[in-house]
Amino acid sequence: MEINNTIIEPGTNTTIELNVSKLPSGTVISLYAHVFRSKKPGPTILITGGVHGDEINGVEIVRRAVAQKLFNKLKCGTVITIPLVNLYGFNNFSRDLPDGKDVNRSFPGSHIGSLAARVASTITRHIIPIVDMGIDFHTGGSSIYNYPQIRANSEDAASIALANIFAPPLILESGLLAKSFRKECFKHNVPMVVFEGGESLRIDALSITEGINGIKRVLNHYQMTADEVPVQKPVTYQSQTWMRATASGIFVAQKQSGEWVKKGELMGYITDPYTSKIHKVTAKRDAFIFGHDNKSVVNVGKALFHICY
Ligand SMILES: [Zn+2]
Repeated sequence: MEINNTIIEPGTNTTIELNVSKLPSGTVISLYAHVFRSKKPGPTILITGGVHGDEINGVEIVRRAVAQKLFNKLKCGTVITIPLVNLYGFNNFSRDLPDGKDVNRSFPGSHIGSLAARVASTITRHIIPIVDMGIDFHTGGSSIYNYPQIRANSEDAASIALANIFAPPLILESGLLAKSFRKECFKHNVPMVVFEGGESLRIDALSITEGINGIKRVLNHYQMTADEVPVQKPVTYQSQTWMRATASGIFVAQKQSGEWVKKGELMGYITDPYTSKIHKVTAKRDAFIFGHDNKSVVNVGKALFHICY
């Protein structure tokens, strides 16, 4: 295997630095890829985190998997991990890069383009062509909590199969976003799934545990490891929508992500700071809550719960 003119022999583990660019201060922006190779041939699996710099559960899942030495004694194949793709965003508590661009909307990228385009191009040129499948670890947005889930391309049977091998609590079948990492992998015939778990800038123990267990299930499935991991049957959904505030005020939730609701069930209420009036928020349909907004001050129309059915 060769990455950026460095040969990595079977049976060796190493870290490759891929130089991307420089900030105005002279700070070098690089990607660090840990490569773990068994002597025995097998699949090459890419595991990435921090494509969005503030989505730290993804970074922590990949870091913890490496720290726990999950890949140090592979029985076959290769694992490539990039724990932190968006180094700049991580340092600046930001999803994006200094130019406001999103790496996950910049693929395939360009080596003479913006910083986001250069990060994307580095992965497109050096990493995607040498891997067989990928798992990209993300986290919910600012104040938005995502229940641990895999998002997989509904039109790609190999991605759906990979999602089921990973076996998170929930699989959401969804289309591919333009210029996304996942779409670029699809173009290269590399099945890629996106894990979502927790809220940006906050560590979420459940999401990290589900992320690590999913990695173990994938490696076990391909006989690269034989780690103990609980069996879990994911539930798959194709349809999703947001439940929105029907009044402005302070929202007090009575339900949270990971819970089922029945049509008509109380999900929370919105209060008015000046009166004792209470506005009930009830479920419009039977659904599973897979995300919620932790911000409690809401304007009418504000998204409260992300539900699937
Ligand atoms: Zn993300």
